[in-house]
Amino acid sequence: MRAVLEAIQAGASGEEIAAIPLPDHFRAAFVRKEDVGMFEGVPSPQKDPRQSLHVEEVARPELAPDEAYVAVMASSINFNSVWTSIFEPLPTFAFLSRLGKESAWGKRHDLPYHVLGSDASGVVLKVGSAVRNWKPGDRVTVHCNYVDDQDPTAHDDSMLAANQRIWGFESNFGGLAELSVVKANQLMPKPAHLSWEEAACNALCNSTSYRMLVSKNGADMKQGDVVLIWGATGGLGGYAVQYVLNGGGTPVGVVSSPEKVKLLEDMGCAAVIDRRAADYKFWSGDTQDEAEWRRFGKDIRALVGDDPNIVFEHPGRQTMGASVFVTKRGGTIVTCAATSGYMIEYDNRHLWMKLKTIRASHFANYREAWAANALIAKGAIQPTLSATYPLDEVGEATYQVHRNLHEGKIGVLCLAPGEGQGIDDPELRAKVGEDRITMFRRHGV
Ligand code: NAP
Repeated sequence: MRAVLEAIQAGASGEEIAAIPLPDHFRAAFVRKEDVGMFEGVPSPQKDPRQSLHVEEVARPELAPDEAYVAVMASSINFNSVWTSIFEPLPTFAFLSRLGKESAWGKRHDLPYHVLGSDASGVVLKVGSAVRNWKPGDRVTVHCNYVDDQDPTAHDDSMLAANQRIWGFESNFGGLAELSVVKANQLMPKPAHLSWEEAACNALCNSTSYRMLVSKNGADMKQGDVVLIWGATGGLGGYAVQYVLNGGGTPVGVVSSPEKVKLLEDMGCAAVIDRRAADYKFWSGDTQDEAEWRRFGKDIRALVGDDPNIVFEHPGRQTMGASVFVTKRGGTIVTCAATSGYMIEYDNRHLWMKLKTIRASHFANYREAWAANALIAKGAIQPTLSATYPLDEVGEATYQVHRNLHEGKIGVLCLAPGEGQGIDDPELRAKVGEDRITMFRRHGV
């Protein structure tokens, strides 16, 4: 991969890049099938990704006709990197084995190791014979919606496809590696004003937040809406706050430290709740306390004078009861996750009597991911990169997210030898403003 990196850094043409012989092996981060029992009996927070994630050489898989090899310059940690590394809620090898049974090409994925990672920026090295819109040398980002376009169920909203998967989580050969194999319909142009690591950190969380709030497939936010955002400086929340501000809504951000409060205020989110300082006790043992939901609702009203039209939900069990309670009559709780537990409990009377809707959302289809990427490329939405780690320290980077020690997104340098490289449009960068682009980086904790 050294020749590939040198060619990219020297500004080699597409033809020159296409002519570089690809190595049989490349460095990648992976979990091992033989390790899936290693954390048995260990409580979730103590399961340590630094023990389960390995970075070593793996064999390069063959390329299917609808795929591309991408030289990965940078990637990012997502919460699904945490799930993969702690083998929760179930080991990802079950996904790989199911994919392996689907087709001859699917069989490549069913290996005793799983190369993870669901974000990437980089350069196309080679395309399969059926790829039309991309060629070697193209600078790209990768979104993680992995669909079989020969399946009829994929042709309304591809997130409804019967065998829709998340690349690098439910498939092998993910982005936390020097080289990745992706379907051509995962590729998007790299935002030219961003560095490799700034460009790599957006696709998964930015597209998810776009669908949840902006798309007609999500909560379909309107101007003037009050939107309560849990984890408002986290991976999803950092983009959600920007979408609400751009769309003429009023974000109410919930976070857990004075530093995060300050970051939100700097982003332009005036209404902020520090959940740790407020010390809400929504749960007491096995039951929930409506008085605490009410206190939370009053705090929101005190800040913005109204109840939220939309609640941006992902913590799950710990917060869902409160989220359903505080949502305005006729409002929407849009949920994409359940970090704190997926067996959810809420008081259904507050849902039906006040005609509220719980809307499920999951990643984004290609059109939505493309639209979200275009907003990044225009400088209308900023990356939320707060720190970067080299690929060798992927365990530590994942640990930081697992233990909620981070803000926004953590980037991982794969082939890129350092930060700040890959910026192709410095004029646009200056126009958007260094301060806005690097806001999370400067706040990095
Ligand atoms: P993240 O970067 O860890 O941010 C989540 C934030 O939520 C945390 O920083 C924390 O912020 C807050 N939070 C965590 N536990 C909480 C609790 N018990 N109560 C209240 N707030 C809590 O993660 P992310 O990237 O935003 O992802 C969040 C969840 O969404 C994960 O479960 C992930 O797997 C899922 N996800 C799903 C999709 C999808 O397509 N379905 C896409 C992306 C992510 P504070 O401590 O500051 O409050």
